[in-house]
Amino acid sequence: MTIDVKNIAEMDRNAVLHPFTQLKDFASGKLGEPTIVETGKGIRIQDAHGKQLIDGFAGLYCVNVGYGRTEVAEAISRQAYRLAYYHSYAAHTTDELAILSDRLVRMAPGKMSKVFYGMSGSDANETQAKLVWYYNNLRGKPQKKKIISRERGYHGCSVVSGSMTGMSFYHDHMDLPRAGILHTGVPHHYWGAEAGETELEFSRRRAEELDALILREGPDTIGAFIAEPVLGTGGITPPPEGYWPAIQEVLKKYDILLIADEVITGFGRTGSMFGSQHYGIEPDLITVAKGLTSAYFPLSGAIVGEKVYKVMEEGADRVGAFSHGYTYSGHPIGAAAANAVLDIVEKEDLPGNARAVGSYFQEQLKAKFAQLPIVGEVRGVGLMGAIEFVADREKKTRFAPQLTVGARVSKAARNGGLIARAMPHGDILGFAPPLVTTRRKSTRSSPLLKPLSAVSWMIWSRPARKSDRQLQFSTSQMLLISTATAPLCSAVAVCAA
Ligand code: PLP
Repeated sequence: MTIDVKNIAEMDRNAVLHPFTQLKDFASGKLGEPTIVETGKGIRIQDAHGKQLIDGFAGLYCVNVGYGRTEVAEAISRQAYRLAYYHSYAAHTTDELAILSDRLVRMAPGKMSKVFYGMSGSDANETQAKLVWYYNNLRGKPQKKKIISRERGYHGCSVVSGSMTGMSFYHDHMDLPRAGILHTGVPHHYWGAEAGETELEFSRRRAEELDALILREGPDTIGAFIAEPVLGTGGITPPPEGYWPAIQEVLKKYDILLIADEVITGFGRTGSMFGSQHYGIEPDLITVAKGLTSAYFPLSGAIVGEKVYKVMEEGADRVGAFSHGYTYSGHPIGAAAANAVLDIVEKEDLPGNARAVGSYFQEQLKAKFAQLPIVGEVRGVGLMGAIEFVADREKKTRFAPQLTVGARVSKAARNGGLIARAMPHGDILGFAPPLVTTRRKSTRSSPLLKPLSAVSWMIWSRPARKSDRQLQFSTSQMLLISTATAPLCSAVAVCAA
């Protein structure tokens, strides 16, 4: 199919309200033309001009099985021909839906009982909040309703899920967060630890802060704690040592439900099937989306643990039907897509691949970036990783926001053929490639060294100035650094592609 690029771009500019886009800059053309993504195969996408890019972020950490998987397309097509839709209200079902649910309950960590379906991570977390409220109403604890999330956590951007999200720019001008959603400290040792504090000590302190918050609010008012096993959009930050055991101890003490938001970590990204398994988390409720269908169809799930479900079932005689659901809950095409995707995840052992390729990828990221003077921290787990840029490593100072270092490095990487996401918080370059990414057979001819030395030379050879290091790199110098960093980023990805 040939696309009339100009016409499509014009229609898009005229009629699409793009998420997370500076509207005026887009409308005026300052942001340039929209990128029309036309095809995808494996770990690459291709735009309407024929330019291929390695998708180092799997769309939005979701196309885990890679692009162009005919097995999934065929499963979707088969289901659409056979039965494009039927609802799941009042005990209606389809074979694909029943099979998927049985499978999810068995594969999920802990004692899970049922799956409620939606279309996005945001709506699934909205459902989780209602389940927490419902559960505590049925238990005769109508005060136990507040939900604690974490600063820099990301749980979506609908009303309750957006409130759970712990970054102020998702709240500003949108009347969020709503009452009843609280935030506790982010478990990021690099930025949060006091001088000399070990990861274990820092984790313990974060747990004590949570304990103090619960006591301040009153334990009888706190219904649940929601968290991503690995902090995602807030900066791709694995938990510090001892964090999850310490947090779970506090939650158990006060009878507070734990919602594991596995929207990113579910289905293999950390190297385990679920992030909860990776970190010994025992959730009462689990949120899944993204990797469930590898984004071939919008589908999410709120997986309900036995403890919560039992109370729901026991309360049914008193309160009647479970009055929550969407037209598209349990959509049969979504279920068929998910079953086909999970077949691939299991058959190709994508968690195992994420573990093996991921450890090489993490090693490469650390080896090539960690010592650069503008890099504060390189971190990650499995096939999710981040490079955080700082103006001064010793003093741990950030670059001036107007330098937009993260965005520039990301842009330069893109020009070099690699999509790596400028994370919305801080100067962080994020990686979350498809889980089918493989390691290059030979690293002998690796193009890593050349651009690496170019970057190192450029940075190290710059004479130190007395002035604030934040000002040391002028805008044009930063541009140079970004440009030189691009092939480096690209090389890292290609090395693991
Ligand atoms: N939860 C987590 C951990 C996420 O990363 C996201 C999206 O990135 C969401 C929830 C929201 O999912 P969606 O964008 O499908 O609403």
